Amino acid sequence: QGDNDSLAAFWMPFTANRAWKANPRQLVSASGMHYQSADGRRILDGTAGLWCCNAGHCRPEIADAIAKAAATLDFAPTFQLGHPAPFELAQRLAALMPVGLDRIFFTNSGSESVDTALKIALAVQRAKGQGTRTRLIGRERGYHGVGFGGISVGGIVSNRRTWPGLSGTDHLRHTHDPARNAFTRGFPQHGAELADDLQRLVDLHGAETIAAVIVEPMAGSTGVLVPPVGYLQRLREICDRHGILLIFDEVITAFGRVGGATAAGQWGVTPDIITMAKGLTNAAVPMGAVAVKRELHDAVIESAPGGIELFHGYTYSGHPLACAAGLATLDLYARDGLFDRANDLSPYWEDAAHSLKGRRHVIDIRTIGLVAGIELTPRPGAPTARAMELFHAAFDNGLLLRATGDIIALSPPLIVEKGQIDEMFGMIGTLLDRID
Ligand code: PMP
Repeated sequence: QGDNDSLAAFWMPFTANRAWKANPRQLVSASGMHYQSADGRRILDGTAGLWCCNAGHCRPEIADAIAKAAATLDFAPTFQLGHPAPFELAQRLAALMPVGLDRIFFTNSGSESVDTALKIALAVQRAKGQGTRTRLIGRERGYHGVGFGGISVGGIVSNRRTWPGLSGTDHLRHTHDPARNAFTRGFPQHGAELADDLQRLVDLHGAETIAAVIVEPMAGSTGVLVPPVGYLQRLREICDRHGILLIFDEVITAFGRVGGATAAGQWGVTPDIITMAKGLTNAAVPMGAVAVKRELHDAVIESAPGGIELFHGYTYSGHPLACAAGLATLDLYARDGLFDRANDLSPYWEDAAHSLKGRRHVIDIRTIGLVAGIELTPRPGAPTARAMELFHAAFDNGLLLRATGDIIALSPPLIVEKGQIDEMFGMIGTLLDRID
């Protein structure tokens, strides 16, 4: 396989690329906790697709709602016109958000939600007469999608180097002391002072230049980084002191993943803006959303007569099929009590993950809600190869997990049974013994 083909596979995974066609790891159907692979095997889904199918796969309630919408109202433009579903979904979503974040903007992905949130933050500062506040702060090892805004505040350095992102961004440090890093080395009682790094950036740049800080309450894609106790509270305090808006990127954490409707609710910290996607529709139709504090949203509307859609909006915002999927998904979450279920299962999940402690290659285990990150020692000369080998071996043994750097990430649908949790960690333990 030549380089060009590999590149095409990376960029266009859904084209009829030779390498992709021949790949037995194609998934052809799914139901509940399982995928079916092209070569006829049942694969236990340890990742809820990509942190998104929280209610399990192909739930008939969601499929039926989408089919009904497709046959009734396939599309309606949301500029000047409307249809009822986005209003209903916005109300239902607002009820799940921390009190006060009840203005909802619909997008089509996590990346769009992030770029929308960043623009809203800039618009809010302008509306408050703080037009000099244009700087956007992210965090090292943050992931906020692949839009220009998202890569600019994101912590993936290669992305920032490769693309001409936004100017005037900066990044909070993720660690002062790698040997005792509260995000990654299981010292959660210590390390809240890492949030004081925001004060360093305020001193460096001047508060009057900073519009907003964006963080994932729990960073998923870069390796399940659970914040130290008090970290998010401290960020909130520093933001308040300096008139900086706080954005939580909850594309992964919302909808039960960390055991509540939002991570903001779980940690008891209210940001000004929350981004969502993934679990919003159980991933059955692409959709994202941004929730904004009412008074901030209204300040923008009042300062920009005509409304927010004047300067930002997507053709597919509030798409009827996505709204139908979203409403059916929220119904399922409520009916089956899936957020509580994730919360209740969390101690069992944590114990099961920690059963891998001391196993070969394992250097750190982090859990929160129904997420686990198992960090492996990098293989000398081939860092990240071990996690990827484990991914392949697990798939071949009927388990889907995610390899991100040297970290194995698990985030099953919230309908997972205890026996399946045992199966996942049991298999990982066995496979760890088999890889070099
Ligand atoms: N933000 C976060 C926190 C994410 O985890 C992701 C996707 N993993 C995104 C944004 C981007 O979402 P999407 O891939 O839907 O654009």
